[in-house]
Amino acid sequence: MSKQTVDLVVKNGKIVTSYDIFEGGVAIDEGKIVLVAKDSLLPNADNVVDAKGNFILPGIVDVHVHVQDPGFPQRDDFEWASKAAAAGGVTTFMDMPTNVPPTTTVKAFNEKKELAEKNSIVDFALWGAPDPDNLENLKKLAEAGAVGFKGFMTKSVILKGLDTGTLLETFKVVKETGRFISVHAENGEIIALYTEKLKKAGRKDYKAIAEARPKIAELEATSRAVLMAKEAGNKLYIVHMSTPDALPFVVNARKEGYEIYAETCPHYLFFTKEDHDKLGGAGIMFPPLRDKEDVLGLWEAVRDGRISVISSDHSPCTLEEKNREVWDVIAGATGIETMLRVILSEGVNKGRITLNRLVQVMAETPARFFGVYPRKGVIQVGSDGDLTIVDLKAEEKITIDKLHYKAKYTPFEGYTLKGKPIVTIVRGEIVAKDGEIYGKPGYGRFIPYQEYKPSV
Ligand code: ZN
Ligand code: ZN
Repeated sequence: MSKQTVDLVVKNGKIVTSYDIFEGGVAIDEGKIVLVAKDSLLPNADNVVDAKGNFILPGIVDVHVHVQDPGFPQRDDFEWASKAAAAGGVTTFMDMPTNVPPTTTVKAFNEKKELAEKNSIVDFALWGAPDPDNLENLKKLAEAGAVGFKGFMTKSVILKGLDTGTLLETFKVVKETGRFISVHAENGEIIALYTEKLKKAGRKDYKAIAEARPKIAELEATSRAVLMAKEAGNKLYIVHMSTPDALPFVVNARKEGYEIYAETCPHYLFFTKEDHDKLGGAGIMFPPLRDKEDVLGLWEAVRDGRISVISSDHSPCTLEEKNREVWDVIAGATGIETMLRVILSEGVNKGRITLNRLVQVMAETPARFFGVYPRKGVIQVGSDGDLTIVDLKAEEKITIDKLHYKAKYTPFEGYTLKGKPIVTIVRGEIVAKDGEIYGKPGYGRFIPYQEYKPSV
């Protein structure tokens, strides 16, 4: 019996699932995985990638990305962001609605979708946002394929902040859509008060940002969001949790049966507020950096399941916007390209989490939560041929000239990280290899939300 010939075979690797690691490879044809097996059982292929004994992960799914397109021509666009994604092992990213115009209407949603389809080299999905004056739009955005909605409890530059009443109303409509709402949980009143005080005191050091946005602002807002979600019965996702002190609100609600979860980001798993002065503008993101105990506590929570997802919260701006005085800096870290490396280095290589747990929090759970599973997030027959091959031993100093951002800064500048993605494959095509980009703009596809219905 002659073997079938497929488009691509990746062989000689160690395949990592959320519960197992085994030697073998993956066959991909017409963009889909057709076989996962020992090398001797793999079919012939037009192209063969030798993984050289390295680990083969499902393509990383980054659910929290701000591409900055459309609306900010001076910042990164879909081509820049997706190239950085590919180099960083991210095969699908989900773009937040904080654009101009904001993604509060189907029109804005579809315009952004077209822009990304034209320019992205990896697959993508899109978030929507509530407009307090037109909450019914949420249902239309859900029909258009939005993976979820993003709400701000403080006012953001682009989106209106949701006061407690509006938050409750929004959550009730969100419940009808069956999607998650993700919430930036910080109390704006506390922040406004302390920011004013510190400005008046003449503080200009970067560390002042941590004092202006104390933990209590995050704890209060998290508890309020959880309370409102319990009342409305909707699914709630707390983004970028910076301290394990906020976790009990989420974890206790889950014990009571509510679908309430939390994510954290690489910068909260790496830096402390002592780093603020050294990092300058590059280290300003909201919420701000916390203490050493918070970093260690967050790792523990990633390991034991209290935190469900790690995302990058990649949010680039220009160097000029970062080099301003502390109070005028545009917040947000670059991170989509370094995220996997930070977690491999600080998590897996330091023995804090297993590779299996990494696959859970960076591929499988993100895909499940936001409606792209099992098409994404898992290595199994029928899923998209998205793979990220990682070399766990490769050690390299991070420098901005080797990264693919238009924004020429990274908080990880000068740090040596151990472990890196070496090949990124999207639907059977190599989009990045050894730091070089092979994907073409326009290859990336829009992945709409699809409810997971187990077949057999
Ligand atoms: Zn945020
Ligand atoms: Zn964000």
